Amino acid sequence: MNDNAPPVSIAYAALRCRCPRCGKGKLYHNLLDIAARCNRCGLEFKAREQGDGPAFFGILIVGALTAIFAAIVEIKIAPPFWVHAMIWIPFIIVGSLLSLRTLKAALIAVQYQLRGEDFGG
Ligand SMILES: [Zn+2]
Repeated sequence: MNDNAPPVSIAYAALRCRCPRCGKGKLYHNLLDIAARCNRCGLEFKAREQGDGPAFFGILIVGALTAIFAAIVEIKIAPPFWVHAMIWIPFIIVGSLLSLRTLKAALIAVQYQLRGEDFGG
């Protein structure tokens, strides 16, 4: 553990999905599961469960983007329905996974910066 490490920005920790304290340890041990603790500095992550917060914001963002882009494609091109399905179903799946990972990491980074002393490790 290194308490003298320079602070990691919330944007860096969120976009790279890294530890909010050291900026080097991985936040996830697989696609969407938060690791129990940082593999570099030992900061505990599991105690920082955010519930449905990241999913709520992810649904808002991905849903709004999908609706806007689908409306633009429909107005400009007016393709058959199957083309919409081929475009927007993968867009929703990939967008949901990416936004959920980023938003979970962002909320953990915000919690760490606001209440860092509550984190274990
Ligand atoms: Zn760390």
